[in-house]
Amino acid sequence: MTVARSAPRHTSVNAAPTLDGALGVALVTGSTSGIGAAIARRLSRDGYAVVLHSRSSAEAGRAMAAELERAVYVQADLSIEADRMRLVAESVAAWGRLDVLVNNAGISKVIPHQDLAAATSAIWHELHEVNVVAPFHLVALAEAALRAAALRGRAGSVVNISSHAGVRPKGASIPYAVSKASLNHLTRLLALSLGPDIRVNAVAPGLVDTPLTADWTAAQALWRERAPMHRAASPDDIAHAVALLVASDYLTGEVLLSDGGLNLT
Ligand code: NAD
Repeated sequence: MTVARSAPRHTSVNAAPTLDGALGVALVTGSTSGIGAAIARRLSRDGYAVVLHSRSSAEAGRAMAAELERAVYVQADLSIEADRMRLVAESVAAWGRLDVLVNNAGISKVIPHQDLAAATSAIWHELHEVNVVAPFHLVALAEAALRAAALRGRAGSVVNISSHAGVRPKGASIPYAVSKASLNHLTRLLALSLGPDIRVNAVAPGLVDTPLTADWTAAQALWRERAPMHRAASPDDIAHAVALLVASDYLTGEVLLSDGGLNLT
């Protein structure tokens, strides 16, 4: 078990620590870097206790958990079913409840769309497993805990981080775009199945300035020149969209395009 806890400081082995007035507990997958880190910091500032997670960067996760007011870190490889089960179990155990699940972790592959041979079956399976199957499975595993949030007075909330590549026929590669389109459809299907106890929404970012996209000069030029907002998003822009959906008591089944308006062009 790889759990690092920052606060609350007074914990005992027998009882889950109290939340000290926090709004609830939020698990953000893939939250030691990029967009996920911004989402975790934002939800923490908004008053949530946060479960941080990543596949491998445990040291960064522990450091971030120590820095935030109420946070724990759990390492898990979401392509492995047993790891998903452990992640949800440890997340619920950390404070004895779970109110928000942000499925942010995802992988991409850059393949020219015309190069069909390069989009191998192995790549299709890998992307589908992490970008679609894992988010679904995490919701299924967390369903009981998220429904319990409704009994306390507020519906549980799931936010999936998809992509504008799942809305428009473009993106890093065809397998990536299809995986995000699947995630958008999954969002709507789950919203139908799980309401009113659990709301399920998605944020579909366009280009976001992260280390991953630092050398995507063509995409950066496209956003600068064509998007009504004339820039890519910052991770904080996306975190803001997530926070809006989490704060709502009514929105469900929405896929909130957050691409600075590029989809309009
Ligand atoms: P990132 O690489 O910084 O973050 C991805 C996170 O996912 C990492 O923390 C990584 O540990 C985690 N992850 C990947 N595979 C995993 C696995 N098998 N098990 C556990 N964790 C795993 O990238 P990012 O740009 O911050 O992306 C975050 C999300 O936003 C992704 O879903 C991505 O598809 C989506 N997105 C990003 C952009 C962009 O321009 N950066 C645009 C649209 C959508």
